[in-house]
Amino acid sequence: MHRFFLSSDHIEGSEVRFPNSTSRQLSRVLRIQAGEKVVVLDNAGWEYEVILTNLMGNHAIGHVEERRLVSGEPNVHITLYQCILKGSKFDLVLQKCTEVGVSSFVPIYSERTIPNIGANNDQSRREERWNKILTEAAEQSGRGLIPTLNRAVDFRTACGIVMNPAIIPWEEESGTSLQSGLREIKRVENPLSRVEIFIGPEGGFSTAEVDYARSLGIIPVSLGVRILRAETAAIVSVSGVMYELGLLGG
Ligand code: SAM
Repeated sequence: MHRFFLSSDHIEGSEVRFPNSTSRQLSRVLRIQAGEKVVVLDNAGWEYEVILTNLMGNHAIGHVEERRLVSGEPNVHITLYQCILKGSKFDLVLQKCTEVGVSSFVPIYSERTIPNIGANNDQSRREERWNKILTEAAEQSGRGLIPTLNRAVDFRTACGIVMNPAIIPWEEESGTSLQSGLREIKRVENPLSRVEIFIGPEGGFSTAEVDYARSLGIIPVSLGVRILRAETAAIVSVSGVMYELGLLGG
């Protein structure tokens, strides 16, 4: 069943009035007919099974048949501190890591981050586009909540606000693997309720940056001997954490 996140003001008692954009998507793109069902999510932890009763172009109305708590959310809150990347690579990280299970994204810029943050209007337009990617990825993958997108901050500020346990994958780390790093963390807190992950830019973190993170208890870990592109490293790290914590099914 198709899933749509709607703000709660579209859900009044047992009636759902879809916004024009979703109504058009239902009738013209998905060609859904009255009588068919969709799932509506309020991004506050509830989902509603809705039978469409009226579909006219820009106006779609449905009736709530069932209200239930959302499923599809991992029981570990993963925050990804991702250096802003060139072109559509950052978009790819948002989409794929939403599918895998990240709950919160913090765009960061470090010494070697290439694109500057740009003027405020660029930033707000960029955030609008990124939030759209998060919403669509959450709908497609069956998430119960849309991951949050935080304001971009610089690397050292991010290190200061991070709540351990946190890891920083670094290609020059050879002593601690992702797995051993997580096992070290689980010795301190088990079961884990949160994990925070830092991924660098195309040019990587500087040694000084990694040393600074280490001084604050953020654990450098290796993802193996091969050098991964930043967007690959983000997906691999999140997948590895989810796997190690038994959250990839089963
Ligand atoms: N120094 C790298 C190079 O020589 O191409 C550039 C950094 S890599 C493209 C981007 C980011 O991915 C790194 O900052 C790191 O966070 C992560 N990364 C890539 N490969 C990794 C590995 N084998 N182990 C740990 N982290 C890795």
